[in-house]
Amino acid sequence: MITDFEKLWKDTLIEIELNISRANFITWFKNTRISGEENGIVFISVPNAFVKEWLSSKYHKFILKVLHNFYPPIRNIDYIINSQPAQSQQTFNKVPSKSTSVLANEEQLGFEGLYIDKEANLNPKYTFESFVVGPFNEVAYAAATAVTKKPGATYNPLFIYGGVGLGKTHLLQAIGNKIKEQKPEAKILYLTSEKFASDFINAVQNKNIYDFKERYRKYNLLIVDDIQFFADKLKIQEEFFHIFNTIYERNNQIIFSSDRTPKQIIGLEERLRSRFEGGMMVDISRPEFESRLAILKAKAENKGFPIDVEILEYIASAIQDNIRELEGALYSIIGQSKIKGKILSLNEIKEILKKNIKPTKTITFTEIVKTISTFYEINDKDLFEKTRKKEIVKPRQIAMYLLREDLNTSYPFIGYKFGQRDHTTVIHAYRKISEKIKKDERLNEEIKQIREELYKKNI
Ligand code: ADP
Ligand code: MG
Repeated sequence: MITDFEKLWKDTLIEIELNISRANFITWFKNTRISGEENGIVFISVPNAFVKEWLSSKYHKFILKVLHNFYPPIRNIDYIINSQPAQSQQTFNKVPSKSTSVLANEEQLGFEGLYIDKEANLNPKYTFESFVVGPFNEVAYAAATAVTKKPGATYNPLFIYGGVGLGKTHLLQAIGNKIKEQKPEAKILYLTSEKFASDFINAVQNKNIYDFKERYRKYNLLIVDDIQFFADKLKIQEEFFHIFNTIYERNNQIIFSSDRTPKQIIGLEERLRSRFEGGMMVDISRPEFESRLAILKAKAENKGFPIDVEILEYIASAIQDNIRELEGALYSIIGQSKIKGKILSLNEIKEILKKNIKPTKTITFTEIVKTISTFYEINDKDLFEKTRKKEIVKPRQIAMYLLREDLNTSYPFIGYKFGQRDHTTVIHAYRKISEKIKKDERLNEEIKQIREELYKKNI
């Protein structure tokens, strides 16, 4: 027999609120209460049929699990419609939010990982366990795990760069979560560079710049995401520079991310740039097909929603350069399948994908030539001349390489376009560059940047 329904329900609601979004909590749990119990069946009174339907179809297992923690004899729940408002409205309003805040708009397929640690600003859903590793991100992953083993010692600062939606924030947060798990007492903060800037401006306006500095200098781990927004904010860069130095001198760890290398951030002070470059710099590139497929498999499994591998392969080939879009498409498909209550056909999936993805850019011959000549600051006409000048030969070989590699252009056609050269010359150039990028870090980096330039134009 339950002696105190009110207390039991209050405890249950606190637990529920911590795990679902605020909006959902209010919508579905307002005006609910426990109205009785019989033979282990707990009666929950709800305000209308709609809520009854929703709670029993979406939240039943979860409510049962939480109630079971507080009242082990429970066997099941019965939802009773009762149009009378619950007596203890107060219970509802008093539910504290502790030090966690619930994320709004988070999709409700699962209950795990929906709340953020407010103090450190870490979201527990971003872990190393849920991070799929492939050739495109393995170096960044290795550096990140190394940092968790010896924070402040191995790679300090750690600088992770790469395009949008490729997993920078995920990795940064995973480091924070891991270190927090190992050392709960460590002072950790994750924030974006924009948040840092607005905190700084507030501190200036409220005249408590001293507190601001003191607070930041004390962190054992400071993670600043999307540092490119520091560009041209000189006052903020200066303040950050001093904070950086203190943290660094105390052997505490600093981690950054950016969508480009420090050198490419225009309007970044030289001394700050050299600090950013002073530790370990790693990039995350675009995932190749196998990795995209592995990510989709892992996410579908994680959602407990198995999907045919042919379908996953189709998604992986349709979405090529953004893991966020990959994930978004997969979740729409899962959502639609759930609504329709059946496995979708490939045609239905194609329809969903059409709405989800921006068309991938098809680059052209002219764009490759233009991007390369801009990158190497040469005249694009020179690429087609028969000159052997060193400053022309290399860009020309890279152009041939990219035309072959990314556009699948035929060797004779490339030869014809580049001053009617023989196709064996083109094959030679292609092979030479393919070999060289394996050994020559700098060349590899240049080609990566050229590709970024080429492909970003369509975003
Ligand atoms: P970025 O910060 O580089 O723009 P995010 O870290 O926000 O990208 O990643 C976008 C989405 O893709 C997130 O939901 C993230 O969890 C997911 N994601 C990115 N990389 C991976 C990965 N390697 N394995 C699993 N999920 C990933
Ligand atoms: Mg990010």
